[in-house]
Amino acid sequence: MIRITQIRLRPEESEELLLPRICKKLRLSEADVKSYKITKKSIDARKKEELTFIYQVDVEIKKKESQVLRHLKESEARIIKESGYRFPECGSEQLSHRPVIVGTGPAGLFCGYMLAKAGFCPILLERGGPVEERDQAVQHFWETGILDTECNVQFGEGGAGTFSDGKLNTLVKDPAFRGRKVLEIFAAMGAGEEILYEQKPHIGTDVLKVVLKNMREEIERMGGEFRFHSKVTDLELSGGRITGVHIKDTKKTDSASSDDGEIYLPAERLILAIGHSARDTFQMLYEKQLSMHAKAFAVGLRIEHPQDMIQFSQYGERYGKLLPPAPYKVTARASDGRGVYSFCMCPGGYVVNASSEKEMTAVNGMSNHDRAGRNANSAMIVTVSPEDFGDGHPLSGVKFQRELERRAWQLGKGLVPIQLYGDFKAGRRSTGPGEILPATMGGAVYTNLREILPEKLNLALQEGIDACGRRIKGFDRYDAVLSGVESRTSSPVRIERNEELESSVEGIYPCGEGAGYAGGITSAAMDGIRVAEMLAMRFSPVRD
Ligand code: FAD
Repeated sequence: MIRITQIRLRPEESEELLLPRICKKLRLSEADVKSYKITKKSIDARKKEELTFIYQVDVEIKKKESQVLRHLKESEARIIKESGYRFPECGSEQLSHRPVIVGTGPAGLFCGYMLAKAGFCPILLERGGPVEERDQAVQHFWETGILDTECNVQFGEGGAGTFSDGKLNTLVKDPAFRGRKVLEIFAAMGAGEEILYEQKPHIGTDVLKVVLKNMREEIERMGGEFRFHSKVTDLELSGGRITGVHIKDTKKTDSASSDDGEIYLPAERLILAIGHSARDTFQMLYEKQLSMHAKAFAVGLRIEHPQDMIQFSQYGERYGKLLPPAPYKVTARASDGRGVYSFCMCPGGYVVNASSEKEMTAVNGMSNHDRAGRNANSAMIVTVSPEDFGDGHPLSGVKFQRELERRAWQLGKGLVPIQLYGDFKAGRRSTGPGEILPATMGGAVYTNLREILPEKLNLALQEGIDACGRRIKGFDRYDAVLSGVESRTSSPVRIERNEELESSVEGIYPCGEGAGYAGGITSAAMDGIRVAEMLAMRFSPVRD
């Protein structure tokens, strides 16, 4: 296989031109090329008037590869060996019970997928509902303000990333090709082949819902079992090991019923893929004395601009209209030394009310696959560390998040509190929109967001947004719309695990973002795969 890098096409040129370009580069006729596939595609927008797509392609040819490459430098084309992800050989220790996975976000799902494929028939417990039902619960919340605390934007099948932009890029190093495997599974489940080669692949909420259903069906076909509305409320431990879990049926609300909806499930291997928002579960784990500590995370406000403004700033006048909705990434440093940066940017997206607790408001962003919404949004955030909020308690970050979310709720009384950036700077309440109309899922109300975050963080954000205005024209415009509060950027706690990925209680594997080992869909999924590998290397598959 020959890998050619740096084949360039202009936006108005068709990808059909790739084959002639490959042939020209390799000095071959089209008949000499057996096949080719795009393995990377990115945009070079440094010179906006000469903007190009850059392709990397892997080519199979009928001639001797080394001879064909003689006239080319290695930086242009080279011979590559097929390499990819390999699941390890299973071990021989016997399990008496099927592995139990708590949570069906990316970490739990991908752990479940790999374990099911290897014959372990895992049981996946999820406090929320399946994606179809969850979709209705979320729409209902956005329309009425009535929150289901067990099935919402954070909880339910697919986890926190279901109502998202579905960005799949990650900065995690990947020598074992787990990230590649995640993309391959997503693509096979309906996410589209382009995620395998695009520089910044994304799925979008609408397509993600289909992918999740396909993935569930595939896991079930391979012997896995899903139990929805099943919240783990307690652990049974014996001699420092896990022996079982208590599960509450979150659909049972009839308090007069003698059946309290509690069941007990024996478990000797428990994967905790609970995400960053399961605050009650963190508390239970703390009480069960799992070793954990507070960690840094980031907080801030979401900012909206017209997508057209971002488009022209990123791609220029000539190509702005031709190209897909543009993302951006901006960073700045405030005068107190804090880094201010954009996070979870959603081109053509919506700001969503992503709350999961009563009388607390948290926001985030989502977009559909076509990213066709009129606004671009991203969180502008600053890192806060245990020194900023801590009293030394492992769950002090959770307490801090709750305080911020309560203030946001007070301002919006359940609606998303929003403000024009110019008013935020002046410290006065906004009364209505400028030229930018907010695109909010869950209703919004104009208010003064300056009352949510500590003033030192408000000042850092303000300096940061102003500085970003020097990078993207209009970023700091008066009528840019801010929403609050962005408090669920990553987990405020890390549950410790050893080299075998086990917690201080034997048999429990903290996994994914909630446990503090991932940040984002792909890295959480990769961590899920890693935990599945660890289990498989030690144990032999169980079939009930
Ligand atoms: P989660 O996805 O949070 O999943 C945890 C699951 O565990 C949940 O389904 C929860 O219901 C369940 N659970 C919790 N406690 C219990 C219990 N006691 N019993 C049973 N089940 C339980 N990341 C990106 O990379 N790209 C994006 O575009 C992106 N956009 C986002 C948009 C939004 C609105 C949100 C909220 C997040 C977004 N993220 C994005 C972040 C991403 O969703 C998370 O990083 C990722 O989902 C973490 O995966 P996880 O499996 O570790 O946890």
